[in-house]
Amino acid sequence: MQPEQRTTIAETRKAVADARRRGLAIGLVPTMGALHAGHAALIERARHDAGYVVVSIFVNPIQFDRPEDYQAYRIDLQRDLNVCAEHGADLVFAPPVEEVYPSPQSTFVEVLGLTDHLCGHFRPGHFRGVTTVVSKLFHMVAPDLAFFGEKDAQQLAVIERMVLDLNLPIRIVPVPTVRDSDGLAVSSRNARLSPEERRIAPLLFQALTAARESVVQGCSSTAEVRRKALALFESRPQFRVEYLEIVDPKTMIPVAQITGPVRIAAAVWLGNTRLIDNVYCPRTR
Ligand code: AMP
Repeated sequence: MQPEQRTTIAETRKAVADARRRGLAIGLVPTMGALHAGHAALIERARHDAGYVVVSIFVNPIQFDRPEDYQAYRIDLQRDLNVCAEHGADLVFAPPVEEVYPSPQSTFVEVLGLTDHLCGHFRPGHFRGVTTVVSKLFHMVAPDLAFFGEKDAQQLAVIERMVLDLNLPIRIVPVPTVRDSDGLAVSSRNARLSPEERRIAPLLFQALTAARESVVQGCSSTAEVRRKALALFESRPQFRVEYLEIVDPKTMIPVAQITGPVRIAAAVWLGNTRLIDNVYCPRTR
């Protein structure tokens, strides 16, 4: 069945209020459209955990640190609606920019500390844009549960912290990263890779997996683990590693020694495409 489609906050609030009156728990899956198997996993998890599933589709201008990326971001709403229908969404909220930003924004939500490293360091203003739009969506939809992918682990940690710090009555549900059969994390950016770039792109996940393996084998020196993982890129000049870090999974701050659970996260440029990925490493031997 096709989900209902709404473009205004007022109509969305009404549909959600009706569902709530029927006793249904409201689940929200925030997306920027161009839906793929990763988004589908979030929608399916929401279908499982919530009684009424809202998918938002909104390309948020204020989270792009490079204006050309925003201009180049293309979505096909009809195709996205079909994906939402196929995976069981009840309502798609796809507002125009003026609905979300009726006037130039002068109020922002910013999570400090957690955004200092990794993508936060390389994409100034990005997380401020994300937390601002997600808090707007939380106010517009008022969900009980909201679903985010572990693919964007720093984003997930930042949102969890925002919910805690602002006392929001919303449970954040993490969803494991969906990968293609060769290990590459599914992303709308993968479509921008040339056939040759797509062929070698799984090296990112292989490097992270190799790093995790050294940690599991008992290596506790971050420098050593990083050196081995980075060596894999040496014979591949097509890659430019932006960062490859071993961080505390709660604070997202790089650790010098590995003494407990860590997350290993990386961002690489492959040609003109920036890819990110991460793996969780629960414990050392
Ligand atoms: P985006 O549309 O890129 O803003 O992503 C919307 C949501 O989908 C975010 O919570 C992402 O973390 C999640 N997501 C994107 N790619 C994947 C993936 N491969 N596996 C799981 N979740 C994903």
